[in-house]
Amino acid sequence: MKQSQPPKAADASRDEPAADGFASYTDDSDIAERESRWNYALVGSGLGVWDHNYRLDKKFYSQTWKSIRGMAPDEQADGDYEAWLQLVHPDDRDFVVNAIERQNAGDPDYHVFEYRERHRDGRWVWIECRGAPVEWDESGAAQRVVGTDTDITARKETGEMLAQLSRRLDLALQISDIGVFEADIDHETVEWDDRLIAIYGLKGFDRRTAVTAWPQAIHPDDRERVLGTVERHVHDQTGFNHEFRIVRGDGAERIIRARGAFFVDGNGCRKLIGANWDVTEEVALRNELQRAKDLAEARNRELEAAKENIEHLALHDYLTGLPNRRYLDKMVEAYSARCREEGTALAILHIDLDRFKQINDTLGHRAGDHMLKHAARVLRDSIRATDFVARIGGDEFVILCIVDTASKKIATVAERIIRELRKPIKYEGHDCRFGASIGIAIDAGARLDEKQLLLNADIALYRAKGSGRNRHEFFSNAARRSILTAKRLADEILIGLERNEFVPFYQPQFDARTLDIAGIETLARWQHPEHGLLAPDRFLDIAEDLDVVSTIDALILERAIADRKAWIGEGFAVPRISVNVSGRRLSDPQLGKKLRSLKIEPGTVSFELLESISLDDCDDAVAANLKKLKKLGIDIEVDDFGTGHASIVSLLRLSPKTLKIDRELIGRLPQSAEQRKLVRSIVEIGRSLNILVTAEGVETTDHVRILQEIGCDMLQGYALARPMPARQIPAFAREEGWRRPEGEARALQRALRRSVSRTASR
Ligand code: C2E
Ligand code: CA
Ligand code: CA
Repeated sequence: MKQSQPPKAADASRDEPAADGFASYTDDSDIAERESRWNYALVGSGLGVWDHNYRLDKKFYSQTWKSIRGMAPDEQADGDYEAWLQLVHPDDRDFVVNAIERQNAGDPDYHVFEYRERHRDGRWVWIECRGAPVEWDESGAAQRVVGTDTDITARKETGEMLAQLSRRLDLALQISDIGVFEADIDHETVEWDDRLIAIYGLKGFDRRTAVTAWPQAIHPDDRERVLGTVERHVHDQTGFNHEFRIVRGDGAERIIRARGAFFVDGNGCRKLIGANWDVTEEVALRNELQRAKDLAEARNRELEAAKENIEHLALHDYLTGLPNRRYLDKMVEAYSARCREEGTALAILHIDLDRFKQINDTLGHRAGDHMLKHAARVLRDSIRATDFVARIGGDEFVILCIVDTASKKIATVAERIIRELRKPIKYEGHDCRFGASIGIAIDAGARLDEKQLLLNADIALYRAKGSGRNRHEFFSNAARRSILTAKRLADEILIGLERNEFVPFYQPQFDARTLDIAGIETLARWQHPEHGLLAPDRFLDIAEDLDVVSTIDALILERAIADRKAWIGEGFAVPRISVNVSGRRLSDPQLGKKLRSLKIEPGTVSFELLESISLDDCDDAVAANLKKLKKLGIDIEVDDFGTGHASIVSLLRLSPKTLKIDRELIGRLPQSAEQRKLVRSIVEIGRSLNILVTAEGVETTDHVRILQEIGCDMLQGYALARPMPARQIPAFAREEGWRRPEGEARALQRALRRSVSRTASR
């Protein structure tokens, strides 16, 4: 506070101890009151008053002045200049001396100055000294100087703290290369700091003008967006944070990140303070990292896809794209678990294509593949989205359906599938026809056992195929029992083979004209330990399934050769024995070798081949074996002639020695003129081709007579001889019982009676 007018004289009051402030020159009460008001104001404001009256050589110091320095209120301040100067901080001493001099001279620059002085307790006190001369002598020299001292230590400390903070901030901004701007929105000014100018590379612009160059410095592609953002945030008075490209003064393109914060300063001015920094490298690094990350993710996706692909391949059939057996195993578990949980039923349809093998064999694998794909399509189209279909091998498929227990619906599904699969499809101009058999098993409830259910569907399928194909069959316990029986029988057959339970029986054949024994057919029998002697109809099919018919054929032949030798030893030399040969044995590449080892005497053995053993298109192995048989002197007889469809041409190619007319054609000879005609023409064909003809099923003397008339070469049947064990043959041949037809007829009657009573007792 500048005091141009002194407040009356100060000297008179210097003895009043407690008063702080100017002493009064009168005792007038009005003045006293004013004085006390002043005192209070001065004490309250913390101003220590001093008054140097050089004219009167008096110095006054108020109590506050003293307390600032740690002096007691009643302590005398002598005002000794030199002594006082010693208390001033050594660094400030010269300055203070000069400042006082200038203040006393009334220099306005020194009206106020600051310095440090030693407090009584030893610390430095910052003092702000205000003062000015109030009286002058004639020469203009100050006669009296009055002023106040204020303790500004606290303010100084705060200032120092601020300065330090500012220094730190500045350092931080400098190190991090952050440029700062401050916009005064109300006064429409923007100030940039030097670093910001440097970041933008703006030459020729200063802190205040730099902002004018700013819009142009923004990359043209980003400009509109950036200006828009800033404008919006200024309008909304909110902070912002964005990134944009700039083109620096030197032409370099850089990327800037900018942040702005809005605030209202102490004067109520709206302001925006912001920072910009160059993040070009950081963005490049970030982009690089992003690229690496994208790349890694792309690779991951590829790997994932590859993994999925592998998993898909592992669980699907490459040809039809349907799930495979492995997948089925998983799904059947899941489906049955669901059924057990929900109390629903699981139906399993086991589907097997009929005639698929023939198509594959005759038209080739490509045709077969075509059929399978077609079948897969049909199956896929026949089921609901919640059902599941898998190809579990060759031409077999399985469908899983969750159903209510009504089996009617499933039957409808099965029928529709069969109907669809029976429709002919075109393949390279051919109309291909195949079909399907379906076995169905359904179960529900907590005991549902998916493995058993799969087995049951398989059993039902077996039944469906067995009972005529192109049909569906539900699993039943009866079916299971018959399968189990078959299975047991199969086991027993294998054991029986080991124990030599298969033996030949022999049925003699006769010259039709002389009724001499012309040959003997061997017929397999199974001497079953429990069931007794079993004929081929009880075991041949299962033996076929087990693929052991060739084995049976081989052992029967061996035994027959041995038995023939034994008969010769007993004086009965049978001209020839014939054995039945299965298709499998005939295509066995080892057959020639095996037969050679038996050292068969040429012309003594003939092979009976069923006419149905596909004589039309016999394969290379069969053709080769037929040649070998010829070389070994083994004759060929066509068995069951008249039931198959062998053409005369293929018969000629086979060049058989004998045709055996099936007993189906013989049975009704006496009653049927037509049959007689048919047999007669077969006999004629045989004669013209130089092939002998044997009639089977010769059961009566009528048969014998008629066949003799027709000119058949040989006869075989119950009328003349039944199959018998080897040991009975020599006696049979010796006794020649067949030449006494009446006796034989009686024997036949006895046998028939026995068989009737056996049937009745079953
Ligand atoms: P097949 O080759 O036609 O054999 C003749 C069958 O007719 C024999 O039945 C025989 O007992 C029977 N039979 C003979 N005379 C008469 C008759 O006057 N009236 C009637 N109703 N039947 C008569 P079997 O022994 O039960 O043999 C059945 C079929 O089993 C044979 O038919 C043959 O195809 C096959 N078979 C028999 N043994 C063997 C064998 O060792 N190997 C092979 N692969 N098949 C065999
Ligand atoms: Ca036969
Ligand atoms: Ca036959």
